[in-house]
Amino acid sequence: MNYTKHFIVKPGSKVDLAKVDASFTDEHESQEHALPEIEQYSQKLHDLQYLMYAEGKRSLLICLQGRDAAGKDGTINHVLGAMNPQGCTVTGFKVPSKEEADHDFLWRYHQHTPAKGQVAIFNRSHYEDVLVVRVHDLVPKAVWSKRYAQINDFEKTLADNDTHILKFYLHIDPDEQLERFKQRIEDPARHWKISDGDYAERPFWDAYTEAFEDALGKCSTEHAPWFIIPSNHKWFRNLAISRIVAETLESLSMKFPEPTVDINEIKKKYHAIVEQEGDGVEAELDGQTAGGKGKQAKKEKKKKKGKK
Ligand code: AMP
Ligand code: MG
Repeated sequence: MNYTKHFIVKPGSKVDLAKVDASFTDEHESQEHALPEIEQYSQKLHDLQYLMYAEGKRSLLICLQGRDAAGKDGTINHVLGAMNPQGCTVTGFKVPSKEEADHDFLWRYHQHTPAKGQVAIFNRSHYEDVLVVRVHDLVPKAVWSKRYAQINDFEKTLADNDTHILKFYLHIDPDEQLERFKQRIEDPARHWKISDGDYAERPFWDAYTEAFEDALGKCSTEHAPWFIIPSNHKWFRNLAISRIVAETLESLSMKFPEPTVDINEIKKKYHAIVEQEGDGVEAELDGQTAGGKGKQAKKEKKKKKGKK
Protein backbone atom coordinates (compact mmCIF):
# COMPACT_ATOMS: atom_id res chain seq x y z
CA MET A 1 0.00 0.00 0.00
CA ASN A 2 1.24 3.47 -0.87
CA TYR A 3 0.72 5.41 2.38
CA THR A 4 1.25 8.81 0.79
CA LYS A 5 -1.65 8.18 -1.58
CA HIS A 6 -3.80 6.28 0.90
CA PHE A 7 -3.77 8.75 3.81
CA ILE A 8 -3.70 12.02 1.88
CA VAL A 9 -6.73 14.32 2.04
CA LYS A 10 -7.59 15.00 -1.58
CA PRO A 11 -7.57 18.73 -2.29
CA GLY A 12 -11.11 20.11 -2.27
CA SER A 13 -12.64 17.04 -0.63
CA LYS A 14 -15.03 16.99 2.31
CA VAL A 15 -13.61 15.12 5.29
CA ASP A 16 -15.66 12.77 7.46
CA LEU A 17 -13.46 11.56 10.31
CA ALA A 18 -16.07 9.03 11.44
CA LYS A 19 -15.26 7.08 8.28
CA VAL A 20 -11.57 6.73 9.14
CA ASP A 21 -10.60 3.72 11.27
CA ALA A 22 -8.24 5.03 13.96
CA SER A 23 -7.07 1.45 14.70
CA PHE A 24 -5.99 0.63 11.14
CA THR A 25 -2.61 -1.16 10.92
CA ASP A 26 -2.48 -2.24 7.26
CA GLU A 27 -1.16 -5.81 6.92
CA HIS A 28 0.77 -5.70 10.20
CA GLU A 29 -0.63 -7.82 13.02
CA SER A 30 1.66 -6.39 15.66
CA GLN A 31 4.53 -4.06 16.38
CA GLU A 32 6.97 -7.00 16.26
CA HIS A 33 5.76 -7.84 12.78
CA ALA A 34 6.22 -4.24 11.63
CA LEU A 35 9.60 -3.73 13.31
CA PRO A 36 11.86 -4.46 10.31
CA GLU A 37 9.87 -1.99 8.21
CA ILE A 38 9.91 0.65 10.98
CA GLU A 39 13.70 0.33 11.18
CA GLN A 40 14.10 0.40 7.42
CA TYR A 41 12.23 3.70 7.14
CA SER A 42 14.03 5.24 10.11
CA GLN A 43 17.32 4.52 8.34
CA LYS A 44 15.95 5.97 5.11
CA LEU A 45 14.82 9.11 6.92
CA HIS A 46 18.25 9.46 8.44
CA ASP A 47 20.02 9.23 5.08
CA LEU A 48 17.62 11.56 3.26
CA GLN A 49 17.70 14.24 5.95
CA TYR A 50 21.51 14.12 5.80
CA LEU A 51 21.24 14.64 2.05
CA MET A 52 18.85 17.58 2.47
CA TYR A 53 21.23 19.15 4.99
CA ALA A 54 24.23 18.64 2.69
CA GLU A 55 22.40 19.92 -0.37
CA GLY A 56 21.20 23.05 1.45
CA LYS A 57 18.75 24.06 -1.27
CA ARG A 58 15.33 23.32 0.16
CA SER A 59 13.62 22.62 3.42
CA LEU A 60 10.87 20.56 4.97
CA LEU A 61 8.12 21.71 7.32
CA ILE A 62 6.19 19.04 9.22
CA CYS A 63 3.04 20.18 11.06
CA LEU A 64 1.55 17.90 13.71
CA GLN A 65 -2.00 18.36 14.92
CA GLY A 66 -4.24 16.16 16.98
CA ARG A 67 -6.34 16.06 20.10
CA ASP A 68 -4.79 15.88 23.56
CA ALA A 69 -2.86 12.61 24.00
CA ALA A 70 -3.02 11.87 20.25
CA GLY A 71 0.75 11.36 20.25
CA LYS A 72 2.35 14.53 18.90
CA ASP A 73 5.27 14.30 21.34
CA GLY A 74 5.79 10.58 20.67
CA THR A 75 5.82 11.17 16.92
CA ILE A 76 8.46 13.87 17.27
CA ASN A 77 10.55 11.56 19.40
CA HIS A 78 10.39 8.81 16.79
CA VAL A 79 10.78 10.84 13.59
CA LEU A 80 13.42 13.13 15.02
CA GLY A 81 15.25 10.22 16.63
CA ALA A 82 16.19 9.15 13.13
CA MET A 83 17.60 12.54 12.19
CA ASN A 84 20.73 14.54 12.90
CA PRO A 85 19.79 17.26 15.43
CA GLN A 86 22.04 19.72 13.57
CA GLY A 87 19.57 19.85 10.70
CA CYS A 88 16.33 20.01 12.71
CA THR A 89 14.26 22.35 14.81
CA VAL A 90 11.14 21.64 16.84
CA THR A 91 8.76 24.37 17.96
CA GLY A 92 5.76 23.85 20.21
CA PHE A 93 2.99 26.42 20.05
CA LYS A 94 1.04 27.23 23.19
CA VAL A 95 -1.44 29.97 24.08
CA PRO A 96 0.00 33.08 22.36
CA SER A 97 1.91 35.60 24.48
CA LYS A 98 0.75 39.21 24.62
CA GLU A 99 3.32 40.17 22.00
CA GLU A 100 2.27 37.31 19.70
CA ALA A 101 -1.42 38.09 20.14
CA ASP A 102 -0.74 41.71 19.22
CA HIS A 103 0.44 40.64 15.74
CA ASP A 104 -1.34 39.01 12.82
CA PHE A 105 -1.96 35.34 13.68
CA LEU A 106 0.72 34.00 11.31
CA TRP A 107 3.52 36.18 12.65
CA ARG A 108 4.72 33.79 15.34
CA TYR A 109 4.73 30.77 13.02
CA HIS A 110 6.67 32.38 10.19
CA GLN A 111 9.62 33.02 12.49
CA HIS A 112 10.07 29.27 12.97
CA THR A 113 9.75 27.99 9.39
CA PRO A 114 12.83 26.03 8.26
CA ALA A 115 15.91 27.55 6.66
CA LYS A 116 17.29 25.87 3.53
CA GLY A 117 18.67 22.42 4.32
CA GLN A 118 16.65 22.21 7.52
CA VAL A 119 13.69 20.20 8.75
CA ALA A 120 11.31 22.06 11.07
CA ILE A 121 8.64 20.28 13.08
CA PHE A 122 5.68 22.22 14.46
CA ASN A 123 4.10 20.66 17.55
CA ARG A 124 0.70 22.31 17.02
CA SER A 125 0.80 25.02 14.42
CA HIS A 126 -1.01 27.89 12.70
CA TYR A 127 -4.01 25.52 12.53
CA GLU A 128 -4.71 26.19 16.22
CA ASP A 129 -6.05 29.53 14.98
CA VAL A 130 -8.91 27.72 13.23
CA LEU A 131 -9.23 24.94 15.87
CA VAL A 132 -9.10 25.97 19.54
CA VAL A 133 -9.81 29.54 18.50
CA ARG A 134 -12.93 28.49 16.59
CA VAL A 135 -14.19 25.98 19.17
CA HIS A 136 -13.92 28.51 22.00
CA ASP A 137 -14.97 31.63 20.07
CA LEU A 138 -11.68 33.34 20.89
CA VAL A 139 -12.24 35.59 17.86
CA PRO A 140 -15.49 36.20 15.94
CA LYS A 141 -16.47 33.82 13.12
CA ALA A 142 -15.97 36.66 10.64
CA VAL A 143 -12.28 36.61 11.61
CA TRP A 144 -11.49 32.88 11.82
CA SER A 145 -13.48 31.98 8.71
CA LYS A 146 -11.12 34.09 6.56
CA ARG A 147 -8.10 32.28 7.94
CA TYR A 148 -8.37 29.14 5.78
CA ALA A 149 -7.60 31.19 2.68
CA GLN A 150 -4.90 33.13 4.54
CA ILE A 151 -3.30 29.86 5.65
CA ASN A 152 -3.37 28.54 2.07
CA ASP A 153 -1.69 31.73 0.85
CA PHE A 154 0.94 31.54 3.59
CA GLU A 155 1.75 27.92 2.76
CA LYS A 156 1.88 28.70 -0.97
CA THR A 157 4.45 31.41 -0.26
CA LEU A 158 6.57 28.94 1.69
CA ALA A 159 6.22 26.27 -1.03
CA ASP A 160 7.19 28.76 -3.75
CA ASN A 161 10.34 29.36 -1.75
CA ASP A 162 11.39 25.69 -1.72
CA THR A 163 9.84 24.65 1.57
CA HIS A 164 8.08 21.32 1.28
CA ILE A 165 5.16 21.01 3.66
CA LEU A 166 3.61 17.87 5.16
CA LYS A 167 0.77 18.10 7.66
CA PHE A 168 -0.33 15.17 9.81
CA TYR A 169 -3.56 14.84 11.74
CA LEU A 170 -3.10 12.11 14.37
CA HIS A 171 -6.45 10.38 14.47
CA ILE A 172 -7.47 8.67 17.74
CA ASP A 173 -10.93 7.78 18.99
CA PRO A 174 -12.50 8.82 22.33
CA ASP A 175 -11.86 5.44 24.00
CA GLU A 176 -8.17 5.58 23.11
CA GLN A 177 -7.88 9.10 24.51
CA LEU A 178 -9.45 8.00 27.80
CA GLU A 179 -7.11 4.98 27.96
CA ARG A 180 -4.11 7.29 27.50
CA PHE A 181 -5.40 9.66 30.20
CA LYS A 182 -5.58 6.59 32.48
CA GLN A 183 -2.01 5.58 31.63
CA ARG A 184 -0.86 9.09 32.46
CA ILE A 185 -2.50 8.91 35.89
CA GLU A 186 -1.01 5.48 36.60
CA ASP A 187 2.53 6.32 35.56
CA PRO A 188 4.26 8.90 37.81
CA ALA A 189 6.76 9.58 35.02
CA ARG A 190 3.89 10.91 32.91
CA HIS A 191 2.17 13.01 35.58
CA TRP A 192 3.88 16.14 34.30
CA LYS A 193 1.99 15.72 31.01
CA ILE A 194 -1.46 15.92 32.61
CA SER A 195 -3.16 19.28 32.24
CA ASP A 196 -6.57 20.58 33.22
CA GLY A 197 -6.79 21.56 29.58
CA ASP A 198 -7.01 17.90 28.50
CA TYR A 199 -10.12 17.38 30.59
CA ALA A 200 -11.55 20.78 29.71
CA GLU A 201 -11.33 20.04 25.96
CA ARG A 202 -12.83 16.54 25.97
CA PRO A 203 -16.47 17.72 26.29
CA PHE A 204 -15.88 19.68 23.07
CA TRP A 205 -15.01 16.51 21.14
CA ASP A 206 -17.66 17.01 18.45
CA ALA A 207 -16.96 20.72 18.01
CA TYR A 208 -13.27 19.84 17.49
CA THR A 209 -14.24 17.13 15.00
CA GLU A 210 -16.08 19.73 12.92
CA ALA A 211 -13.20 22.19 13.18
CA PHE A 212 -10.64 19.53 12.19
CA GLU A 213 -12.76 18.33 9.27
CA ASP A 214 -13.03 21.86 7.93
CA ALA A 215 -9.32 22.60 8.34
CA LEU A 216 -8.30 19.31 6.71
CA GLY A 217 -10.71 19.74 3.80
CA LYS A 218 -10.17 23.42 3.09
CA CYS A 219 -6.39 23.45 3.54
CA SER A 220 -5.17 20.25 1.91
CA THR A 221 -3.44 21.43 -1.24
CA GLU A 222 -1.06 20.06 -3.85
CA HIS A 223 1.84 21.93 -2.27
CA ALA A 224 0.85 21.41 1.39
CA PRO A 225 -1.18 18.22 1.79
CA TRP A 226 -2.86 16.98 4.94
CA PHE A 227 -2.64 13.32 5.91
CA ILE A 228 -5.03 11.60 8.32
CA ILE A 229 -2.95 9.07 10.23
CA PRO A 230 -4.64 6.24 12.15
CA SER A 231 -2.99 6.71 15.55
CA ASN A 232 -4.62 4.39 18.07
CA HIS A 233 -1.52 2.21 17.62
CA LYS A 234 1.55 4.32 18.28
CA TRP A 235 3.88 2.06 16.31
CA PHE A 236 1.68 2.21 13.22
CA ARG A 237 1.46 6.00 13.49
CA ASN A 238 5.28 6.16 13.61
CA LEU A 239 5.64 3.81 10.68
CA ALA A 240 3.10 5.64 8.49
CA ILE A 241 4.57 9.09 9.16
CA SER A 242 8.18 7.94 8.69
CA ARG A 243 7.21 6.34 5.40
CA ILE A 244 5.39 9.40 4.07
CA VAL A 245 8.21 11.74 5.08
CA ALA A 246 10.84 9.41 3.60
CA GLU A 247 8.92 8.92 0.36
CA THR A 248 8.42 12.67 0.01
CA LEU A 249 12.11 13.39 0.54
CA GLU A 250 12.99 10.63 -1.89
CA SER A 251 10.76 12.15 -4.58
CA LEU A 252 12.76 15.40 -4.47
CA SER A 253 15.76 13.72 -6.20
CA MET A 254 18.20 15.64 -4.04
CA LYS A 255 21.89 15.52 -4.80
CA PHE A 256 25.05 16.01 -2.80
CA PRO A 257 26.63 19.31 -3.82
CA GLU A 258 29.68 19.24 -6.09
CA PRO A 259 32.86 19.36 -4.01
CA THR A 260 34.33 22.83 -3.64
CA VAL A 261 37.86 21.41 -4.05
CA ASP A 262 39.71 19.33 -6.65
CA ILE A 263 39.51 15.84 -5.09
CA ASN A 264 42.52 14.59 -7.08
CA GLU A 265 44.64 17.44 -5.77
CA ILE A 266 43.44 16.71 -2.24
CA LYS A 267 44.31 13.01 -2.67
CA LYS A 268 47.83 13.99 -3.67
CA LYS A 269 48.18 16.19 -0.60
CA TYR A 270 46.89 13.38 1.57
CA HIS A 271 49.37 10.89 0.17
CA ALA A 272 52.21 13.37 0.63
CA ILE A 273 51.34 13.76 4.31
CA VAL A 274 51.06 10.02 4.91
CA GLU A 275 54.36 9.55 3.12
CA GLN A 276 56.00 12.13 5.32
CA GLU A 277 54.44 11.22 8.65
CA GLY A 278 53.94 7.52 8.20
CA ASP A 279 57.66 6.75 7.66
CA GLY A 280 56.98 5.33 4.26
CA VAL A 281 53.88 3.35 5.31
CA GLU A 282 51.78 2.83 2.22
CA ALA A 283 48.46 4.70 2.21
CA GLU A 284 45.45 2.97 0.74
CA LEU A 285 42.96 5.75 0.17
CA ASP A 286 40.10 3.74 -1.15
CA GLY A 287 40.50 0.98 1.42
CA GLN A 288 38.57 2.96 4.07
CA THR A 289 41.09 2.41 6.86
CA ALA A 290 43.98 4.14 5.14
CA GLY A 291 44.64 6.69 7.90
CA GLY A 292 43.96 4.13 10.58
CA LYS A 293 46.39 1.66 9.06
CA GLY A 294 49.10 4.28 8.83
CA LYS A 295 48.59 5.28 12.44
CA GLN A 296 48.47 1.69 13.61
CA ALA A 297 51.72 0.86 11.82
CA LYS A 298 53.35 3.90 13.36
CA LYS A 299 52.18 2.94 16.83
CA GLU A 300 53.55 -0.55 16.39
CA LYS A 301 56.87 0.84 15.20
CA LYS A 302 57.06 3.08 18.25
CA LYS A 303 56.25 0.16 20.55
CA LYS A 304 59.05 -1.88 19.05
CA LYS A 305 61.45 1.02 19.44
CA GLY A 306 60.43 1.37 23.11
CA LYS A 307 61.18 -2.31 23.79
CA LYS A 308 64.68 -2.14 22.36
P1 AMP B 1 0.20 21.47 24.94
O1 AMP B 1 0.45 21.30 23.50
O2 AMP B 1 -0.43 20.28 25.60
O3 AMP B 1 1.38 21.98 25.69
O4 AMP B 1 -0.93 22.62 25.10
C1 AMP B 1 -0.82 23.85 24.47
C2 AMP B 1 -2.14 24.56 24.62
O5 AMP B 1 -2.03 25.81 23.92
C3 AMP B 1 -3.31 23.82 24.00
O6 AMP B 1 -4.39 23.81 24.87
C4 AMP B 1 -3.62 24.63 22.75
O7 AMP B 1 -4.96 24.58 22.37
C5 AMP B 1 -3.19 26.01 23.17
N1 AMP B 1 -2.93 26.86 22.01
C6 AMP B 1 -2.01 26.66 21.04
N2 AMP B 1 -2.09 27.60 20.08
C7 AMP B 1 -3.08 28.43 20.45
C8 AMP B 1 -3.66 29.60 19.88
N3 AMP B 1 -3.22 30.08 18.73
N4 AMP B 1 -4.66 30.20 20.55
C9 AMP B 1 -5.11 29.69 21.71
N5 AMP B 1 -4.62 28.60 22.30
C10 AMP B 1 -3.62 27.96 21.69
MG1 MG C 1 -1.43 18.57 26.20
